[in-house]
Amino acid sequence: MRLLKYILIINIILSASCWAQETPSSKFSITIPTVAQEATSIWRTINDIKFFEKNGYVVNLPKDELIEKLIDKSKKGTFNNNDYSAIYNLLESKVYNKTDYKLSLKNVQLQEQLINNMIVELHSIQDSCSWNFNMLDNYNVVFTLYGSGGSYDPQNGTVTLFTTKKGDFKNYKNPANTIIHEIVHIAIEESIVQKFELSHSLKELTVDTMVKLLFSNLLPEYKVQNMGNFNIDNYLKNTNDIKNLDKTIKNIKAQNKAV
Ligand SMILES: [Zn+2]
Repeated sequence: MRLLKYILIINIILSASCWAQETPSSKFSITIPTVAQEATSIWRTINDIKFFEKNGYVVNLPKDELIEKLIDKSKKGTFNNNDYSAIYNLLESKVYNKTDYKLSLKNVQLQEQLINNMIVELHSIQDSCSWNFNMLDNYNVVFTLYGSGGSYDPQNGTVTLFTTKKGDFKNYKNPANTIIHEIVHIAIEESIVQKFELSHSLKELTVDTMVKLLFSNLLPEYKVQNMGNFNIDNYLKNTNDIKNLDKTIKNIKAQNKAV
């Protein structure tokens, strides 16, 4: 009887470990920002406030008298690193609350499998590319309640995802759209965007068209941003054009001086 128990336990352990191996490990982590990370988001937004206003961006910042004063300072050109600690203290004492990110976390977790599947797909395309399609082993999605939208850091694979306390995201109900958009940005940043000095609009068009071509079935709501009149569809038509993206971009640049 004791032996049977022992065999049963061994069986349970073995099947549990097999199950763990078969479950694909997540390709990205999700991070609730610290006070310091959110203070940095706010500091950067205030620092660039003139750019945002000039280009018609809507930015989110805490509603507080101190923030209004710092925005004025930035417009006058006297805002600097010394203002960071006041922002940090405001967040820590009045504004920051870990539970503000609970709904956003839940909404990204609901799409975790879908996002993982698309990252695996991007890895498989990487191998057949004639250019350096930069895929990282892991990505880190960090929420922020502040700023103008999403951003990415190609050095460490950080995707900063703008969200709200209600768990909404910019432009899309489902966060997978923006997360994959930023991961494709990271993939092309060095060997395409920097190498061929793409303009902001051609960069966004390239990323959007790649996502659309690769994932229209998985991301049916995905939209190509309106970036002027250039018709990229004449050049970037199928996965083959993605596999040879360096040649595709050279072709675009050669035939369209103004893009
Ligand atoms: Zn973008």
